[in-house]
Amino acid sequence: MAGRHFLFVPGPTNVPDRVLRAMARPMVDHRSSAFPALTTGLLRDLRPVFGTTAGQPVIFAATGTGGWEVALVNACRPGDRLLAVRNGQFSHLFVDAAQRLGFDVETIDVPWGEGVPADAIEQRLRADGGAAIRAVLVVHNETATGVTSDIGAVRAAIDAAGHPALLFVDGVSSVGSIPFRFDDWRVDAAIAGSQKGLMLPPGLGIVCLSERALGAALEPGGARGFFDLRPMLQANADGYFPYTPALSLLFGLREALDMFAEEGLPNVFARHARLASGVRAAVAEWGLALCAARPELESNTVSAVVVPDGADARRVIDLAFRRYDLSLGGGLGRLAGRVFRIGHLGDVNELMLLGALAGVEMSLADAGIDVTLGSGVAAAQRLWRRSYGATDGAIESAAITAGAS
Ligand code: PLP
Repeated sequence: MAGRHFLFVPGPTNVPDRVLRAMARPMVDHRSSAFPALTTGLLRDLRPVFGTTAGQPVIFAATGTGGWEVALVNACRPGDRLLAVRNGQFSHLFVDAAQRLGFDVETIDVPWGEGVPADAIEQRLRADGGAAIRAVLVVHNETATGVTSDIGAVRAAIDAAGHPALLFVDGVSSVGSIPFRFDDWRVDAAIAGSQKGLMLPPGLGIVCLSERALGAALEPGGARGFFDLRPMLQANADGYFPYTPALSLLFGLREALDMFAEEGLPNVFARHARLASGVRAAVAEWGLALCAARPELESNTVSAVVVPDGADARRVIDLAFRRYDLSLGGGLGRLAGRVFRIGHLGDVNELMLLGALAGVEMSLADAGIDVTLGSGVAAAQRLWRRSYGATDGAIESAAITAGAS
C-alpha cells in the first residue's frame, strides 16, 4: 500500500526515524575499552524514566515477559507465596508465568476494567500474620483494558498492613509515558519493555530493582540461568554485559533516552495525557464506552473501546487494516470481539492521532456501527486546540473570515 502504515496498537509503537538511524550502524566490540561509556550512560539515564535515584536498572535481551521472570527468579525462590491482582489479560499472564516458574500464587480477581484494589490487598496482608506472602504483583497499566492503577495506594496498603512483602510492578505500558514513581512508591521490581513508551523495536526487557530485591538476588538458591542477576550486576559494574548484548537496540535506546531529555520527561508525560484526552473525547462523541470502569482509571497510553452489543470488534480491526492500512489492537482473552484498542503512546502527536481516529471512524461505519464521520475527529481537534489556549470563539471567527473572503 502507498503511504505510511498507521501503527496504533499499544506496542510495538512507532519507532522514530532518528532511533531507526541510530540503530542502523555497524556492530562494535562489546568487550572493548570504549564500550562501558555506552552501558553506564544507559543505566544512568534510565533511572529518571523509572522515577528513581536509588533503584538499579538492568537491561536484558528479552521482552516484558522476560522482565517478569527476572524479577521473580531473582527476588523470590520457588515455592514462595505471591499475592497477585488479576484485572486483565496481562495481569493474568503475569500470574501464569509465576505459576509455571513454581511459585504458589494467590490471586485477587476483580472484573476486567477495574483497577488494582488496594483495600483488598491490605485486608489479605493483614490476615497473613506469619508474613508468608513474599511479594505482591500488580500491573500499573493494564494494556488489555486501558486501565491505570494507583500504585501509591498499593504501597500505602502494604505499609498500613505492616507487611514486609516485596512490591513488583509491571510498568510495560506505562514506563516512559505515564509518571512512574519507583522511589516514592518504594517499588522492589519494576518491569518495562523496549517496544512501548521507550519507542524501540521489541527485544529488551528492562527491570529496575530496589536494594532489597538486589540483596535477595545475591542470595544463593533457585534455578537461574540466563536471567540470573548475579553475572549481570557483576559485569554491569564495569560497564559490560555477561554475554553479547543486543547492540542495535542499545544504540537505539541511547537515542530514545536523548529524545526524552530533549523533550523533558514532564513534557513527555503531559503530551501523553493531552493526546489521551483527545482520544477519549472522540470515543465519547461516537457514543461508545471505554472498558475502564471509571474515568480516574482511564489510561493515558491505550484506550480499549467497547463496541455495541451485536457488533464484532474483530471486524472493525480487520477493515481498518485491510482498507486503510491502520493497525488497531484487538480484544485479548475474554475481551476478544468486544473491544478494539487504540494505542496512543510513544512517538505520537496530534495529527498522527487524528489520522488514526479518522480511520477508526471509517472502519466503524464500514462495519455497520452508527457513527457520524468526522465527529470524533472534531471532538479531539476541539480539545487539543483548547489545550493550547485556543477558544471556540476563535474557531467561529476564523470560519466567518474564511466565509467572507
Ligand atoms: N505487561 C504488559 C502490561 C503488556 O502490555 C505486555 C505486552 O503487551 C506485557 C506485559 C508482555 O510484554 P512482552 O510482549 O514484551 O513480553
